Amino acid sequence: MSDTPYVLVLNSGSSSIKFQVLDPAADAAQDPFVSGIVERIGESSGHIAIKTETSKMEDSRPILSHSVGLERAFGMMTLLGVGPQDLNLAAVGHRVVHGGATFTEPVVIDDTVISKLKGLIPLAPLHNPANIDGIENARALLEHVPHVAVFDTAFFSTLPEDAANYAIDREVAKKYDIRRYGFHGTSHHYVSDKVPGLLGKPAEDVNQITLHLGNGASAAAIRGGEAVDTSMGLTPLAGLVMGTRSGDIDPGIIFHLERSANMKVDEIDTLLNRNSGLKGVSGVNDFRELKELIESGDENANLAYGVYIHQLRRFIGSYMLILGRLDAITFTAGVGENSVNVRRDAMANLENFGIKIDEARNNNEDGIEGAREISTDDSTVKVFVVPTNEELAIARQAKALADEE
Ligand code: ADP
Repeated sequence: MSDTPYVLVLNSGSSSIKFQVLDPAADAAQDPFVSGIVERIGESSGHIAIKTETSKMEDSRPILSHSVGLERAFGMMTLLGVGPQDLNLAAVGHRVVHGGATFTEPVVIDDTVISKLKGLIPLAPLHNPANIDGIENARALLEHVPHVAVFDTAFFSTLPEDAANYAIDREVAKKYDIRRYGFHGTSHHYVSDKVPGLLGKPAEDVNQITLHLGNGASAAAIRGGEAVDTSMGLTPLAGLVMGTRSGDIDPGIIFHLERSANMKVDEIDTLLNRNSGLKGVSGVNDFRELKELIESGDENANLAYGVYIHQLRRFIGSYMLILGRLDAITFTAGVGENSVNVRRDAMANLENFGIKIDEARNNNEDGIEGAREISTDDSTVKVFVVPTNEELAIARQAKALADEE
């Protein structure tokens, strides 16, 4: 048995569970000790894949439920010699999407926390039920380990009231907890934390914008380490154009669809969350496929890309004004870390604002792994690519809290 105090990080979604066992003290570039995915839960064919530093194992039998999937995955880990019961686990860190106004920092999970999480389901009906299910299943299987919830919303609990509130009836807003919560907070926090070091400035003096561009996408404006605005809102549907989500649209579109297309609210929800964004306009949600379609001359793919970039620039511009002075813009997540074109086009023609991209650096011609600058030496606003690592950030927060217990 290894003595390393590992953390098991669990991200339980509606039809999948992703997890990693990692050393919270390890370098960000180090592969996790174990990683795994349980997918297609409840479908006719399931899939579990586990990977360790030296071995792999897969299973394709149907998976009836989340608890069956997790138990089977743990069993496979045991067969590979890395069973969670046999490891020196310091904590289990659970990614929880919505902490509402109740949870503004990570918390050790007990029955009271679970009942408060259940109370937040109306705010995140698509995400929190699966997160809670994951917590309950993991607690049942790993009773002896502290379980910690880390919230996607927590980093944005500092939003000023002017940024956090919507201009709707005050009583309605209060009664139904309607405000901007923001999401991807673990990633924005992790990435923005690295920027003062890259700039060689004290954290409290740094004004920055972080752009988390993955399948989901969000932007954040951060002053002295505290978030002052973000693009997602009450739900992760708001803001930037995403893989399958529309981002900001005129809310009147929803009434129009209900009245003119006779669509039910659940159908509109599915349309905007699952069949919009890049996928809605072009048919594909993955940027690599979108690029191929654009290169083949597909008009809708070209339009999807144009709308994506336009919306992204709109947020960057508004955050520059909100911050007043800007030191850095940072790209992260699947698209932000890998798409040379998105970074180039999002930052094009901004020389008058002191933003200049260096083409060779943007292409990463030196093959730098990890955080890197992509702006020119004379760019007064520095532009960076910083790989995110939400699992490591969750592992570190979970371990720190478990150690305090
Ligand atoms: P998630 O939001 O699911 O965590 P990721 O941050 O992993 O997403 O980002 C996934 C997206 O990143 C993919 O859908 C794809 O569009 C994009 N992506 C991944 N690799 C590349 C690449 N080499 N070039 C362009 N886009 C990429």
